[in-house]
Amino acid sequence: QLLKEVKEKDKDTNAYITITEDLAMETAKRLDQKLKNKEDLGALFGVPVSIKDNIAVKDVKMTCASRMLEDFVPPYQASLVDKILAQDAVIIGKTNLDEFAMGSSTKNSYFGVTKNPLDPTRVAGGSSGGAGASVAMDSCLLAVGTDTGGSVRQPATFCGLPGMKPSYGSISRSGVASMANTFDQPGVVGKNVEDLALLLDIMQGADEKDATALGNDVFKKLEDIDLSKMKIAVADCHMDMEMDPDIKKAFEEVLAKLKDRGAQVDRVETKNLQYAIIVYHILVNGEIAPNMSRYDGLRFGHRAKDYSDINELFTKSRSEGFGDEVKRRIMIGTHILSLDLAKEYYDKALQVRHGIMDDYKKIFEDYDVVLSPTYPVKPYLIDQEMTPVEIYSADLCTVPVNIAGLPAVSVPYPLGDGLYMGLQLTSDHFKDNVCLSYGKALE
Ligand code: GLN
Repeated sequence: QLLKEVKEKDKDTNAYITITEDLAMETAKRLDQKLKNKEDLGALFGVPVSIKDNIAVKDVKMTCASRMLEDFVPPYQASLVDKILAQDAVIIGKTNLDEFAMGSSTKNSYFGVTKNPLDPTRVAGGSSGGAGASVAMDSCLLAVGTDTGGSVRQPATFCGLPGMKPSYGSISRSGVASMANTFDQPGVVGKNVEDLALLLDIMQGADEKDATALGNDVFKKLEDIDLSKMKIAVADCHMDMEMDPDIKKAFEEVLAKLKDRGAQVDRVETKNLQYAIIVYHILVNGEIAPNMSRYDGLRFGHRAKDYSDINELFTKSRSEGFGDEVKRRIMIGTHILSLDLAKEYYDKALQVRHGIMDDYKKIFEDYDVVLSPTYPVKPYLIDQEMTPVEIYSADLCTVPVNIAGLPAVSVPYPLGDGLYMGLQLTSDHFKDNVCLSYGKALE
């Protein structure tokens, strides 16, 4: 019954690329048996969960929202999916995204844009727009997405929900299609901060299939934090950035309220944070280009019909299979990695990456969290045209968190017009419980 309703609703919203009817029914039967046999029940028993379509569920189509992988059915499964199923969750579908997670609106999806359930004339955000919408349209309670530069926190915000990207290394990336390996981390959108912590705790853990997965056992350690004991830093470049006036007003209102209640809220100077967007695009595109090289029509992906030699096979398959944004990033990435430019751009960007880490390190000597808006603009209209640079610039608050591998949670704050801004709380590496506890207090 739920599945029927979801299918009906989704005709309009387009949160899902695939609704996993067979898998859901199979799970339901298994859970039924478990109940009958009075077996132990998992922590997510019967909870409907959606999975972003760049995360592999065995024998279910995984498209990454690309024509390149339109018919790809993985014979393997992401480690995080194993863990979710082991806790008796019901996976109900694979959600829409910007092609290979590159974007902020799902407008880059080969399967069409996802509409925002709060206002269907607006985008649901991205790249995990389908994840955000799947929870906002009440088709599931929790959604798993991926966050390379804000792709979980921003769509959560656009859909009026909390979302979290944990510390890099918390959750295994095995079975998750790589965009930029040193930035990518699975994350969660849900109805409240405690639910996020529950699912993150289930998904975390070391994994021999991913050497960067160390595990992280702090998600259970949420605390009630007294507002008067809070130590909050606000970075200068986030205060001074261009913002929607309603968001600016709301954000200042929040800061004033926190101060009123006795919290320590200070504006801090940072040296490198302001360069986050440039650094992000140099380093991320440098990782994207080689990651995308496996999709050549021979090893993986769409294969062109007519070709006279192998070079033409590659060229044609890739021209047909990839959308504009993916091509743009492959070209930029290849360009900046070329021999004479790598020193000029890539090496310098790596240095600034460390500078950004140092900025945070210094802040965390005196403060528990960095607070900023998650995103400086409201969900925009679906037919609003924007240049790539306009879109990229809006990521100034989300991307530094991935550059430094830190955890960050975003909690929604109403703007009074039916839309929300996000309050983003970032804490120190592997202290995810700190930003989650703050987030719970601000919910
Ligand atoms: N909006 C960012 C980008 O386009 C974030 C993408 C992501 O986190 N996957 O790169």
